[in-house]
Amino acid sequence: MVAMATAERCFSPRILPPRKVSLPRRPHLFRGVSVPSLGVRATTSELFTGSPRFLGRRTSAAVGLGPGRRDGVTAREPPVMEGETPVIPSGSVTARGESQVIARDDSPVMRGRDLLQWRDMPQHLQFNPYIHTGYRPLLTFWGSLASLFYLHNETINIVTHGLPILFILLVSPRVMPWSQIDSHFLAWCHIAGSISPWIGSFIYHLFMNMNLPPAFYHRLLQLDMLGIWVSQSFGALPMVCASVFCLPRILQWLLISCYCIFAIYGLFKALTASSPWNRRLCFALPFCMRNLLCVLRLTRFGGGNPLNMSNVILQDLLSVVGGAIGACNFPEKWLPGCLDYYCNSHNIMHVLVVMAVYYMYHAARSDLIWMAQGSCDRFPKVDTLSFKDDL
Ligand SMILES: [Zn+2]
Repeated sequence: MVAMATAERCFSPRILPPRKVSLPRRPHLFRGVSVPSLGVRATTSELFTGSPRFLGRRTSAAVGLGPGRRDGVTAREPPVMEGETPVIPSGSVTARGESQVIARDDSPVMRGRDLLQWRDMPQHLQFNPYIHTGYRPLLTFWGSLASLFYLHNETINIVTHGLPILFILLVSPRVMPWSQIDSHFLAWCHIAGSISPWIGSFIYHLFMNMNLPPAFYHRLLQLDMLGIWVSQSFGALPMVCASVFCLPRILQWLLISCYCIFAIYGLFKALTASSPWNRRLCFALPFCMRNLLCVLRLTRFGGGNPLNMSNVILQDLLSVVGGAIGACNFPEKWLPGCLDYYCNSHNIMHVLVVMAVYYMYHAARSDLIWMAQGSCDRFPKVDTLSFKDDL
C-alpha cells in the first residue's frame, strides 16, 4: 500500500481541490491538564498548515491547539495531491477525530502508527530533506520499541543492521577456525569489530525519535559512530598485524602503534564531528594507513595471505562507496519523496557496509590462519627457484 501510494505520488501526481472536513468536538489532553473542547471546520489543506515543528519552534501554529492559535485555522496551504496520506498536525485531532496525548507542553507525542512528514519533525531529525514521509512521531521508549512491528522510513535501516547482530552472534564464533590460529586476541578483536557497528546503528535508528531533548539524539549518533570506530579499528587489526608480520619486530610495533594513534585521533574527531562528511572523514587516517599496508603486502616485505588481496581491498572499498552514497543523499536527491521507505541512500549504505564486513571477515580469517603458519616466503628468490628446477 505504501509503495503504491508512493509510486502514484511520484509518477502520476494529480491535483485535487481542497476537501472540507468536519471535526467532532473532543476533549484534548495535556499532561494532567484538560484543554477545552475544540470544534473547527476546515479544509484538509488547512489542516496541513498547522504542522508544528516540535520542541516549540512552530508549536504556536498548531491547528486550534497551539498556544497562540486555539481559535481556529486561517492559513492556506498548497492543494492536496491524490494518494497522499493527509498528515494531521501533531498535538491536534487526527483525521479520525481522535484526541492525542501530549507529553510535554511543546513536544506532542502521537500514538499508534501515525506517521509524519519531514516538515513536522524537530530540526535535529530533519537531516534528509529528500525523505518526505514516513517519519515516526516523538515516542516513548516502548513506543519506539513497538515501531519494530510496523513500516516507517527507518524500518529498512533497523532491519539491515539488526539481523546481522543475530547472525554474527550465532554464527561468527562457531565458524572462526580457533584450532588453526595462534592469536585468539586478534580473533576476538575481529568479532567485536564485526558486531559493534550493527549494535550502535540498530540502537540509533530505533530510538532516534524518542521524546527526549536533542542532546539525547546526539548521544545516539555518537554511539553509532563509536560502533563504526570499533569496527574500523579493532575489526581491521588482524589485517594490519598480518601486513607487517614479516617486518622486523621493532618496525611491526612502530606501525601498529601508528595505526592505534590514528584510530584514537579518528575517534576523537568522530565524536565531535558536526556534518555527515566530517563524520566520514574522521576515519581517513586509519583508512589511508590500511591502503599503504595494502601496497606493502604487494612487496616482498609485506605479510598476509597473498590470495587475500581481493577481500582486503573490498572491505574498505565497499565502506567508502557506501559512505559517499550516504553523504551525497543519492539517489533520493533525484527522486525526492519517492524513496522514503526503500532504496534511499542510507538503505544502500547499510547494505554496502554489511557486505564490507562480510569481506572483512574473510580477510581476517585468512590472515589469522596465515600468521599461524608463519610463512613469510611469499616471493621466493629466483636462485631458489632455479635450484629447485635443477633438482
Ligand atoms: Zn544508519
